[in-house]
Amino acid sequence: LVSRKQKPTNTIIRVGDDVIGDGSQQLIAGPCAVESEEQVFEVAAQLAKHGVRFMRGGAYKPRTSPYDFQGLGLEGLKMLKKAADAHNLHVITEIMTPSAVESALPYVDIIQVGARNMQNFDLLKEVGRTNKPVLLKRGLSATLEEFMYAAEYIMASGNDQVILCERGIRTYERATRNTLDISAVPILKQETHLPVMVDVTHSTGRKDILLPTAKAAYAVGADAVMVEVHPFPALALSDANQQLDFKEFDAFVENLTSTFPAL
Ligand code: PEP
Ligand code: MN
Repeated sequence: LVSRKQKPTNTIIRVGDDVIGDGSQQLIAGPCAVESEEQVFEVAAQLAKHGVRFMRGGAYKPRTSPYDFQGLGLEGLKMLKKAADAHNLHVITEIMTPSAVESALPYVDIIQVGARNMQNFDLLKEVGRTNKPVLLKRGLSATLEEFMYAAEYIMASGNDQVILCERGIRTYERATRNTLDISAVPILKQETHLPVMVDVTHSTGRKDILLPTAKAAYAVGADAVMVEVHPFPALALSDANQQLDFKEFDAFVENLTSTFPAL
């Protein structure tokens, strides 16, 4: 079902009047985690200022350590939706378990399946039974074939609105948090008809190379780029080192827009 051989035309994801996969370049931005109503309202205002249409933010956080901030759960999701609504933005958020899908639906425009859950087959089937687009992230050490089969699970359950997100893979290289597999983008575009996104924040784990990696993503055909932004990154409850502050986000968007005016 994911194969371009079966369906030569690009799949276009529509959320309200906004589209991902029509050949334009979208930007998805927002904090790593929802931390407070004030925080998400501040971020939403910044996104709206730049014409960004999709706001991300984690309410259920898949943290490596059980002692780290785990997210605000459904309450956080309600805050995110309220902030997004105030600025007419669409909500993208991660759901980690099949049982949390239904209660989240009223607050979500695009459901994210995180890298750690790429092969959580029950979750893939559950989101596949919804009518919301699904942003599927590539697993930490998943091959492209495994990634495409994970998307196939969602489509086989009846949901053909899938976005594939490259977010870096595990390699021996330690200069970046993960290794951005930029060649995944043109390969996925060739092999599938689905929109492809690149998450530059989690791929690199480094603020100083978000701009060139975002440009590279668009240059090789990515339909969207995802980046994390936070009012006070140093105080963030997760990913404090790699989220952009508002000044850095201004510069990031302005520079990208000058290279890709359609953004
Ligand atoms: C995220 O986008 O919030 C996230 C946890 O990313 P990943 O699943 O790619 O690690
Ligand atoms: Mn993060």
